Amino acid sequence: MRKVPFSFELHPARSEHIAKQLPDRIARLVAAGPEFVSVTYGAGGSSQDASLDVLKHVIENHPGVRTMAHLTCVGSTVQHAHETVRTFMDAGVHSFLAVRGDLPVGAPEDAFPGDIRTAAELVQLIHAVQNERRPWREVAVPGTPGITVDRDGRERAAIAVAAFPNGHPSSRSWQQDIDTLLAKQAAGANLAICQMIFHAEDYFRMVDAARAAGVELPILPAITPVTTPAGLARNLELSGEQAPADFAVALEVEPTEAGRREIGIDFAAKLTERLIEGGAPGIHLYTRNMHEVPLAVLARVGLIDDARYAQLIAPEFTSEAQAIVGEPAS
Ligand code: FAD
Repeated sequence: MRKVPFSFELHPARSEHIAKQLPDRIARLVAAGPEFVSVTYGAGGSSQDASLDVLKHVIENHPGVRTMAHLTCVGSTVQHAHETVRTFMDAGVHSFLAVRGDLPVGAPEDAFPGDIRTAAELVQLIHAVQNERRPWREVAVPGTPGITVDRDGRERAAIAVAAFPNGHPSSRSWQQDIDTLLAKQAAGANLAICQMIFHAEDYFRMVDAARAAGVELPILPAITPVTTPAGLARNLELSGEQAPADFAVALEVEPTEAGRREIGIDFAAKLTERLIEGGAPGIHLYTRNMHEVPLAVLARVGLIDDARYAQLIAPEFTSEAQAIVGEPAS
């Protein structure tokens, strides 16, 4: 079986119905051995409690799995952001995806008079909160000039940031996106996770430009496996990306649900394959809180073996099957 790290993005459940099914879906995803699972956060804190509930559920029920909390800063005061980060750390979360978030469409700029304006500032704030809670006590590593570790053996908070292979929609230029990523790295980010892509070349082009400019962070490409024309349209609208025309047409003209599912899985698996072959350090899958299709994509590219995949999607996902959780890929 291949060993390439993969990770999943989850959302707070948007309905009672999904909320009931979420623990089972999370158990199946987690049992596949992800590097981490991240949980989205409504801009302005609109989903704070619901996001925290999902994170706490994973921490309490799946203690071997690293959780990553998305946090936004748009409209937030420094004090409120401090409190929020502390609340998440108190719940046991030590990895974050620091994003700015967006104002509601049509909202005037001054409707959210926050004083943290960019994701880079949020990254600095998260490090500051960690240091305040328990100061980082650095000691030199003998024989490795410039390298220090914490005396208590702790890891620094892992802080991811967003990257946009085709540019952020409000960026004035490609260079601005690269500069923004550099600013996030300088602020202390140690991972970048991309906006969903539909073309592997978009990712490689951005990584090359970022490296040439001095970005050293690992940059994870992200994929949303979609299996319906409506799902594709929704994701293209959300991301501002474009899908290959032949994929969009194939989904549109396929008459059966099983056929559309196969087209979606095949497309996502081939994209994953190209990204891995091209040297991506891992794959981040936007799951939309579903387990079957993301797991099928991973099985198709050999990141989950066939016997394990059969267990993970069996109607009865037993506690014995859950217990055979492999070590997270590293
Ligand atoms: P920033 O890095 O702050 O940048 C936003 C814009 O400002 C860019 O155009 C940038 O070029 C510009 N900019 C930044 N710094 C400077 C500067 N110093 N000077 C001039 N211009 C600057 N949104 C949510 O609400 N919740 C989520 O959970 C969430 N998760 C996400 C996960 C991923 C992987 C991605 C890719 C996006 C996610 N988003 C989420 C969306 C994100 O909030 C929006 O895309 C937002 O518009 C930009 O966020 P950012 O962190 O990239 O912002």
